[in-house]
Amino acid sequence: MTKIIILDTSALLYLPLSKGKGERHITTYSVIKEIYKDEIKKAVIDAYIQTNILKVVKPKKKYIVEALRKAREIGEHRLSKADVEVLALAIQLRGEGAIVFTDDYAIQNILHINNIPYLPVRRQIKRKLKWTYQCEACGETYNSETEICEKCGSKVVRIGKY
Ligand SMILES: [Zn+2]
Repeated sequence: MTKIIILDTSALLYLPLSKGKGERHITTYSVIKEIYKDEIKKAVIDAYIQTNILKVVKPKKKYIVEALRKAREIGEHRLSKADVEVLALAIQLRGEGAIVFTDDYAIQNILHINNIPYLPVRRQIKRKLKWTYQCEACGETYNSETEICEKCGSKVVRIGKY
């Protein structure tokens, strides 16, 4: 399964992206707008977009409404338009195994309460996310990319560890 990584402004400013096998990096238009204030960062982000490493999408209106409601529910009123769009996208794609990369505590808090997976970025740079591969049936683990379990012949899936 393709892993969808949603990046907020903090993540895009600190995390170097590369074309990952089976990974899709996405963000929203408001996030891009915030980053474009910095000329150097703008050039980097433009390069990501042009080479399809990063995709910019617009979350559906109903998820924007839901994101705002979720923020209000916990008394979070400091969210920027970019924050709201990132949350909306996370809600929209939660059924597709999306994970949000963010260092923003308000976003992390709302994601946490709603059981949507996220990863802090700067901690991740220090303790790099490592992929490990595990058999769905017998639980055997592999360090390198494996598709079929050598022990039982079942499907091996990739899991992130950090
Ligand atoms: Zn197995």
